[in-house]
Amino acid sequence: MIKHLYVHIPFCPNICPYCAFYKESAGRERVEAFIDALLVEAKRHAPTLKPRTIFFGGGTPSALSFPQMERLLKGLHGCLDLSTVEEWTIEMNPATVDTKKARLLRSSGINRISMGVQSWDDTILKKLGRTHSAQKAEESFHLLREEGFNNLSIDLIFGTPEESLASWRQTLEKSLLLAPEHLSAYGLTYEEDTEFFRLLGRGLMKPNEHLEADQMELTIDLLGEHGYQQYEVSNYAKAGRESLHNMAYWLGSDYLGLGPSAFSTVQGHRWRNIRETGIYSSSTMAGATASDFQEELSPQILASERAAFGLRTHHGLDFERARPWQQAMEEHEKQGLLYRTKDRWLLTRKGLLLADTVGEIFF
Ligand code: SF4
Repeated sequence: MIKHLYVHIPFCPNICPYCAFYKESAGRERVEAFIDALLVEAKRHAPTLKPRTIFFGGGTPSALSFPQMERLLKGLHGCLDLSTVEEWTIEMNPATVDTKKARLLRSSGINRISMGVQSWDDTILKKLGRTHSAQKAEESFHLLREEGFNNLSIDLIFGTPEESLASWRQTLEKSLLLAPEHLSAYGLTYEEDTEFFRLLGRGLMKPNEHLEADQMELTIDLLGEHGYQQYEVSNYAKAGRESLHNMAYWLGSDYLGLGPSAFSTVQGHRWRNIRETGIYSSSTMAGATASDFQEELSPQILASERAAFGLRTHHGLDFERARPWQQAMEEHEKQGLLYRTKDRWLLTRKGLLLADTVGEIFF
């Protein structure tokens, strides 16, 4: 049985200039057709699915209207065995939070909210193309608390050009005042096919790697001082509040992805659903496959992925799994990027800052 379910909801109220996820603006008919198709796809997989974790990502899942969200949630409850779900997360844009929707989510079993705050500085939010203000994000956070959500994540981005170390510190301190159970802090990246990538190419945006490293170090120090464990390079949690769903990915569990562009990996077989929502919907409704790409993963590739993702977590990589890369591990140890305990390898502080580079060992 597959224990981890991802549902991709590709609609966004507006398109952020740095975002490379598959997403589109929501048109009512397209959303309704998408929900029909998603429920058909869920029914297809129901016999092999008994989720312990569910993650609604996107896109902006919370951009669905109340009736659309209600239909989707009722439909999933109707066709899947959800009796073993421990953690059910939804990504929410602060601009799309309201009391009625929050009550629906909670009464439907969703018990964890990952809120895309990104920054508490309105100038930076504008630069990132976000539609919410810092004030709206704060109101949304309090609303979710009042509605009984006791597992909230504040998701932040650092490294936006013009964001000083002082401004980033204020964003961290403001987040800490709200005392979420979980925080994620990702450095801004410039992905192909984004507006920021084009601006970078034209020399109109200039990343500052040294400042970004300082911002990340500040994050590690400040959140650590306030009792948040850095359990993965970009993720911090109070004890027992790590994301079970993401840990399952990083530690190599099988997972099923529903919805356009979603990936699944089951017993060494990986496939990706059709990326275009209209084609995904019509293909699924016509009884055809929802996927347009698949591959068999060799044991070596699975071991490489497991090693690369595992090393980024606080579990590190045990010596047995690391054996094929022993020499490279020792070289990285000499460079101060890795250290060892009695049975495993872990990233040093310097290694955490250069985790992507260290991960190249495995591929
Ligand atoms: S960052 Fe989030 S809200 Fe912005 S376009 Fe991407 S998925 Fe949509």
